[in-house]
Amino acid sequence: MLKLQEKQIARERIDILVNTALKEKDEVLAARQAWVAKKIAMRFRVRMPYEARQLFCKKCKAFIVPGRSARVRVGRAKTRAMRITCLKCGHTYRRILAE
Ligand SMILES: [Zn+2]
Repeated sequence: MLKLQEKQIARERIDILVNTALKEKDEVLAARQAWVAKKIAMRFRVRMPYEARQLFCKKCKAFIVPGRSARVRVGRAKTRAMRITCLKCGHTYRRILAE
């Protein structure tokens, strides 16, 4: 199979896995799906989509779901950023909001 096709399929699978993980109510299962998505990204050397990368805590690497395992605070309108606090390790990081 062509490398390009492989990467395309990998990206699609990552998308599906991340979306499933976000909807998953079982935290352990969600983390597992997110982990598989990450593995695929590494194996096929594709970048995780920006949206998906924001779902992993920058510090403890845990999969965090905004509103569930993370506290989200929207900053001032000017900055277009959100503050995400990982409830697992307490680390806070910023996420720039896309237009
Ligand atoms: Zn964390």
